[in-house]
Amino acid sequence: MKKATHQQTKQHNRDLVLRTIFVNESISRAEVARVTNLTRTTVSEVVNGLLSEGLVQEVGRGESIGGKSPILLSIVPDSRYFIGLNLGQDKFIGAIVNLRGEIKETVEVPVHDGDGKNALEFVYQIIDQLLKKKIKPVVGIGVGTPGLVNTREGIVVNAVNLEWQDLPLGQLLERKYKIPVSVLNDSQATAIGEFVYGGEHANDENLIVVNVKHGIGSGILVNGRLFQGDGGGAGEIGHVVVQENGELCRCGKHGCLETISSTRAVLKELKMDSLDKAQSAFDSGNANAKKAVSQAAHYLGISLANLIGTLNIQKIVLTGDMTLFGSEWLDSVNTSMRNAALARLSENTTIELGTLDYRACILGASAFLLLDDYSLLFQEN
Ligand SMILES: [Zn+2]
Repeated sequence: MKKATHQQTKQHNRDLVLRTIFVNESISRAEVARVTNLTRTTVSEVVNGLLSEGLVQEVGRGESIGGKSPILLSIVPDSRYFIGLNLGQDKFIGAIVNLRGEIKETVEVPVHDGDGKNALEFVYQIIDQLLKKKIKPVVGIGVGTPGLVNTREGIVVNAVNLEWQDLPLGQLLERKYKIPVSVLNDSQATAIGEFVYGGEHANDENLIVVNVKHGIGSGILVNGRLFQGDGGGAGEIGHVVVQENGELCRCGKHGCLETISSTRAVLKELKMDSLDKAQSAFDSGNANAKKAVSQAAHYLGISLANLIGTLNIQKIVLTGDMTLFGSEWLDSVNTSMRNAALARLSENTTIELGTLDYRACILGASAFLLLDDYSLLFQEN
């Protein structure tokens, strides 16, 4: 290995210090030095650069631990922006997001079955409209899309409902907008969103986020990094068969988890066309609705037990439309998971509801760029 050049070391230190300030609400220079193992002099030099870039600000004084109370540093939330997109089943949502994950502007486009050919145009439209809002500077675009994604290459390998096959979405967007782009599976993006901005469970180093809506997928974080597996499909639990000879799935197999535990499955079972109706039937104690939701929860719980047995990750977060069925659904999922998993593993596992709903995907897709490379925040690049 070649020795790092002076320039590389400088950049590495800068990214390290910036990351440390980013993941903390506020932090002193001394604490940054302690966490990063850099000298105080180096930290001070780097911080001066960050202050002049407008990325970091001094926000008052912290508690003294003997001697003068230290000046605290914090990221400047509105110093840079990202565009995040959530390409959902019935609508595409795009938003401008600041460095604290606050959504500044949103643009939505309704999408209908058979709109596949227009889907790419809708993506351009949303980004164009957001850029017209003149919230600047936008330093990156993150896209969360259903389907199998090759994130490294920015290629949507296969998104059935969008009729996308091997679409080089990342490259197309980078060429058009001349800023870095990340393309992620929507459930993986949602997992990152909950990891970075999800309040209580944020920054749990290991985390599974299961996104249960029209389809079902999950995102897995190991040691604070998204784990995508060898082919990018880690966490694709929705198309694993849980019921032999079950209902035909849109993937062509029978009895996938998605055919029982998704909102699509519940609506089909209840012969209803809207989730609102299903929810009010459920809330008013309708026996069919109770049964459909409880069956959905049962099979999801078994799938979670499999994940727990494989990964032994103790924090699981559930997101997506299915969470509308609330604590009763969550309790059933929990019971079923505990019945199916090894007691020693399940007793230390908690399942909770996500806090960010559809925003998690948008925030996660854009934050992924940042986690990958903090240097994209610098103007000189
Ligand atoms: Zn399937």
